[in-house]
Amino acid sequence: MADHPIETPPRAPSPVHRFGTLAVHAGSPHDPTTGAVIESISLSTTFAQTAVGKPVGQYEYSRSSNPNRDNFEKAVAALEHAKYALAFASGSATTATILQSLASGSHVISVSDVYGGTHRYFTQVAKAHGVKVTFTPEIEVDISEHITPETKLVWIETPSNPTLRLVDIRAVASQAHQHGIMVVVDNTFLSPYVQNPLDHGADIVVHSVTKYINGHSDVVMGVAAFNSDAMKERLGFLQNAIGAIPSSFDSWLAHRGLKTLHLRAREATTNATSVAKALEGSPHVISVNYPGLASHPHRAIAIKQHRNGMGGGMLSFRIKGGYEAAQRFCQTTTLFTLAESLGGVESLVEVPSAMTHAGIPKEQREAVGVFDDLVRISCGVEDAEDLKADVLQALEKAVVFPKISNGLNGHASN
Ligand SMILES: *Cc1c(COP(=O)(O)O)cnc(C)c1O
Repeated sequence: MADHPIETPPRAPSPVHRFGTLAVHAGSPHDPTTGAVIESISLSTTFAQTAVGKPVGQYEYSRSSNPNRDNFEKAVAALEHAKYALAFASGSATTATILQSLASGSHVISVSDVYGGTHRYFTQVAKAHGVKVTFTPEIEVDISEHITPETKLVWIETPSNPTLRLVDIRAVASQAHQHGIMVVVDNTFLSPYVQNPLDHGADIVVHSVTKYINGHSDVVMGVAAFNSDAMKERLGFLQNAIGAIPSSFDSWLAHRGLKTLHLRAREATTNATSVAKALEGSPHVISVNYPGLASHPHRAIAIKQHRNGMGGGMLSFRIKGGYEAAQRFCQTTTLFTLAESLGGVESLVEVPSAMTHAGIPKEQREAVGVFDDLVRISCGVEDAEDLKADVLQALEKAVVFPKISNGLNGHASN
């Protein structure tokens, strides 16, 4: 957005209603002709005009805009305390469109442990159109050292993936804004229910809707929300010009998922808290990363930045017995499915070093805490007691049983 100087963005009007009410009602008008309470899926790609250039309603062609995408965007804007939201074909398409909005020659500062696909875009695609990205593991501490006259954007992910470290958004935004630099926060891991980055000074909040917002592991989609009119014009232009937009059907599904976000996010937090405490109390676990625990190094940020200090549904832990134990753990859980992704109603488990983060060189991975024995968990909305029992039985089978059988076979146990 090099040609638009960054001004203080106008605030969206304070919402009158609370989160759950907005989740259910924002962007959900009754059909004015039939009274249908649930909007229909508008599959038409084109809309009739009564005279040349005079469409019947507000729509002309569905890439540019359509009723289902509009309603979904209104709902997300309400939940993120934003004036505008724009939906895209995926979280990755959202990132790409924001990066494309920068003029050639722009510089971006990003936290080191961003989502793998974001890292890939920053290092392998952005430079093709002349945008350079610098990574830092300690953005609150050293942001000023990386700022150049070309720096236009700071990219934060909090909590980080998969080690759940937190960034103080306000601290970074105050430094960035002194230099007219825009701050983007990827809020995928917490969802708008747990954290609203715009309230802490961010200029754009992005989500992979694929995760918590849709919440049912059946839609790939993304969204960006913000307050600036200039940004609406620029990103709205690119949304239409690049055309990486979601289908009406996916917009409808994601909107349906969003209506229960508050219920799912609360339950996922309850479950993750229970699982994290059980893991922390287990002799088979080296350490637990969960921002809801008092032991988390950035707990103070969680208390300041998250709704009621909630930890969200994601956690990770190091298991005793190395990579083999981590693998065995993931294959022994019965309720947690071994799979990538997160934020759905069903609980998932994975080994980042061999799955989501396998593309990062070992030393670079381990420098940010992604060891071979790290297991990442996404808690769904099953019952906490069942999830806890499943994790504890899997730990026994992954860590204790192999020791016993190794002993019987006369192998050295470790
Ligand atoms: C999944 C994810 C993305 C990418 O989203 P897609 O919808 O898969 O393109 C970006 N950021 C984070 C934190 C994610 O978890």
